Amino acid sequence: MRCDDCLAQLDALHDSELMPVEETALRAHLSDCPDCARAYDILARTSHLLQEGLVHYSAPDVLKARIHGALMRERDAEPPVRAVAPWNRWSRLAAAGLAVALASSAATFAAMRQSTAARSAADQVLASHVRSLMPNHLIDVASNDQHNVKPWFNGRVDLSPQVPALDSSGFVLAGGRLDYLAGRPVAVVVYTRRQHVINVYSWPEAGSDTPEVTTTAQGYHLMRWSKGGVAYWVVSDLNAGELSQFVTLYQGRGLEQR
Ligand SMILES: [Zn+2]
Repeated sequence: MRCDDCLAQLDALHDSELMPVEETALRAHLSDCPDCARAYDILARTSHLLQEGLVHYSAPDVLKARIHGALMRERDAEPPVRAVAPWNRWSRLAAAGLAVALASSAATFAAMRQSTAARSAADQVLASHVRSLMPNHLIDVASNDQHNVKPWFNGRVDLSPQVPALDSSGFVLAGGRLDYLAGRPVAVVVYTRRQHVINVYSWPEAGSDTPEVTTTAQGYHLMRWSKGGVAYWVVSDLNAGELSQFVTLYQGRGLEQR
């Protein structure tokens, strides 16, 4: 048996698709030919790896078809008498197998990210707010001074959040923190009113300006608006009237700061 014929049947051997007489001949060649034996070993190990370790998710059928088509074209493009060593050919196919596995995982990962992003921003903001109320989660930089809090965000998030001083109106700056919403870091400025915490989230978001919208969920008030390419969310268990007053002040003083 020639090496080319052997290599052409390795897939079938591995998948137990050969007739007994073919399998016997092939195994006889493998036991005599280190190159082909090595190619078979790579095939078997790669297959094992793919089954055991790498592929936990299935790729969309379109992606599978595209990769399969690309592999077939590569195979067809091989000259009948190969100048390429069997080792090279099989290592390329093994690499292609890994590419399939990685592409599958990447496609699934992208899909998971999309479904995460699809969760409403309100849910995520609210979950973040509740999380922030746990001990030691509220504040990364504690300061009543806006000149300490605002610069702290530099280089940590891709916008410089408004940090107006509102203590004369009874809203005391407590500090700021970095939080993660929809898989990216966002700026959170924290104020307090009596025993109530007010979290102000902001992040860059393309789109036109939108007026304030107030919603209530799980006993918290959420107010959101967009201005100048920035999305704002304010969450608190403060009563709606005082929270609305806070937002008015935050927006007004925020503009003066620019
Ligand atoms: Zn051989």
